[in-house]
Amino acid sequence: MPPLRDRPPRKPLPVGTLLAGALVFATAIGLVVLVDESSDLTPPPDGAQLHTRVDPVTPPPAPAPERPERPPLDELAPRMPGPPVPWVEHDGVLEKGQTLGAALENYGVSGGQVHRIVAALDGIYDFRNARPGAAFSVRLDRKTGQLAGFQFEHGPLDVFEVVRGEDDSYTGQRVDVPVEETEAEVGAEIRASLYRAMQRAGETPALVALITDVFAWDIDFYKNTHPGDRFKVIVEKISKDGEFIRYGRILAAEYVGQVGEFRTFWFVPEGADEADGHYYLEDGQSAEKTFLATPLKFSRISSGFGMRKHPVLGYTKKHMGVDYAAPTGTPVWAMAGGTVTWAAWKGPNGKLVRIDHGNGLQTAYAHLSRIPRGIKKGVRVRQKQVIGYVGTTGRSTGPHLHLGMKRNGRYIDPSTLKISRGKPVAAAHRAAFDAVVERRTARLAEIRIAPAPAVEDDDP
Ligand SMILES: [Zn+2]
Repeated sequence: MPPLRDRPPRKPLPVGTLLAGALVFATAIGLVVLVDESSDLTPPPDGAQLHTRVDPVTPPPAPAPERPERPPLDELAPRMPGPPVPWVEHDGVLEKGQTLGAALENYGVSGGQVHRIVAALDGIYDFRNARPGAAFSVRLDRKTGQLAGFQFEHGPLDVFEVVRGEDDSYTGQRVDVPVEETEAEVGAEIRASLYRAMQRAGETPALVALITDVFAWDIDFYKNTHPGDRFKVIVEKISKDGEFIRYGRILAAEYVGQVGEFRTFWFVPEGADEADGHYYLEDGQSAEKTFLATPLKFSRISSGFGMRKHPVLGYTKKHMGVDYAAPTGTPVWAMAGGTVTWAAWKGPNGKLVRIDHGNGLQTAYAHLSRIPRGIKKGVRVRQKQVIGYVGTTGRSTGPHLHLGMKRNGRYIDPSTLKISRGKPVAAAHRAAFDAVVERRTARLAEIRIAPAPAVEDDDP
């Protein structure tokens, strides 16, 4: 957690910390320096034992056969700077099922003060979203016991604070958490599953989701992942205090397998907003198509599913669609943007969502276990928006997604759909784009991939 805003650059250490520090230091150099809290922290000449302070945490120091040279006195016992700060600070963690008020009450914070904290952060942070384990720090005026400052860490990058102004008013704000952004190169060969390969590469499942996401217009990872396939990515990593927090964006990715060879590059035209960037093929064509290659968002629960069991149960005229066997709870994507025309139970379809994409095209997603609250008749949805979760509702013998696609009212085979791509890189930005592609292609080429083991357990 970053320090409270008005904390002095170096907070004077409490006596206990100094003692512990001196003990640890002394232990480290093999000296026995045992002092009690009433001493003035200045060790006696040649470090003889004075008083005994039993510290259950610090193991007894090993006998030093040879006494190393003494460090200067002021290093062992720094002088306490200045007067004590005018507040007391408490650090705590929200327990399971505990409200902020209950947690703060333990530190003598009154209900009125808790209310001021909540009010100061109104519209900035909603404590109803707080999760157990969230750390907080509260500062109380040493004399009056009044609230002097508060900080709350919802997550490593989501920190909020309340500061007291000159006029005793309180202001809440989000804390600007300093993060480091680096680019990492990752590559692996698939044996049991994409998940296993990612683990071998030392990365987390979140990167699997990102990769399947950037190739979602071309590769259906449920049916197109095979042992021996290889992937490479250049991905942003966000860290805080040197510790990895999450992935940023995939800047370039390559997938080479039975399904074919695909490369995609993230590009933001000069002067445009980061959010206006898109994925492109190396020749400048858009990587994004009007329809996704799959209605299933790859998720942790599906792991090696596609490789254990053939995920596509097939297309038949009578059946009027394609069945994707997938674990219950697998998120289902809108294959293209459009308007929801049905989002409810419908006889043998079970829970069904139907989307009108314009140009006479419709998709329908049946047997869902759940439809998110916001997905309702008349609502506009984006491509890749999760519109439901795989289930086995209605006339169904096991968890699967039934995908139906219609053109002008007649069922069509989704794989026969001729789909168009998004806009290519504009001519004015072409030179800049080519330079980005050249640089990143060279970096992708340099990623070395260790061969996958001959046998691999496919449990995620
Ligand atoms: Zn079906």
